[in-house]
Amino acid sequence: MDIPRIFNITESAHRIHNPYTPEKLATLGAALRLEPGTRILDLGSGSGEMLCTWARDYGIIGTGVDMSRLFAEQAKLRAAELGVADQVTFIHGNAAGYVSDDKVGVAACVGATWIAGGVAGTIELLARSLCANGIILIGEPYWRQLPPTEEVAKGCLANTIADFLLLPELLESFNHLGYDVVEMVLADQDGWDRYEAAKWLTMRRWLADNPDDELVKEVRAQLSSEPVRYARYTRDYLGWGVFALMPR
Ligand code: SAH
Repeated sequence: MDIPRIFNITESAHRIHNPYTPEKLATLGAALRLEPGTRILDLGSGSGEMLCTWARDYGIIGTGVDMSRLFAEQAKLRAAELGVADQVTFIHGNAAGYVSDDKVGVAACVGATWIAGGVAGTIELLARSLCANGIILIGEPYWRQLPPTEEVAKGCLANTIADFLLLPELLESFNHLGYDVVEMVLADQDGWDRYEAAKWLTMRRWLADNPDDELVKEVRAQLSSEPVRYARYTRDYLGWGVFALMPR
């Protein structure tokens, strides 16, 4: 079981697989006023940077589930590197339908809401692991400005304009689902650059190291087109943030 190999290649050098910088991640952790010992479940935990740094900085106890074998492995190494291996557990597996045995104070899905069919389904899934007065974290894109055409939406790698909402509407949608929005930390364009542009050097080096791989053509094509596509579309149109929610 694994995610499509192309992501394991392009994001192999990422610690954070979304437009957050380490500073934003720390800001979010501080904003949540986490008590030491708080249990956190993270579905689609990637390379584990959120749980590992919050374990180090805020004393949390965490479990992460991720379908990428590589990322799950990197998460364990990061936990050892930061000296928090006894506080965090990383499971290589499918997070769809995952409910924790013990209820958690924070249940998160940061940039992987497709695992339960979208934002609403993911909130419902996370709620099943949440203790009373716990916090759900959802990391999700939104339109900074509405794409004028469907072509622009596709340029942002959305299927259609309707895939995402404007920020006020996204917040309103949480409201409609019965949740209070109690915090948010938004990414900025520098963070987007870190997420997207870091893939380019990774791809270039991978091509140099793997000239005979079956994915060479695909990676070459992406490296050639991605900088311009990103600058033309995603950078101006797509926002991203993590939203903290509490059931009403
Ligand atoms: N939350 C992490 C990773 C976000 S990227 C971070 O912010 O760094 C999306 C992640 O979802 C990837 O790590 C990918 O491997 C994982 N993923 C995709 N489908 C999944 C599934 N069905 N179950 C668990 N993880 C999944």
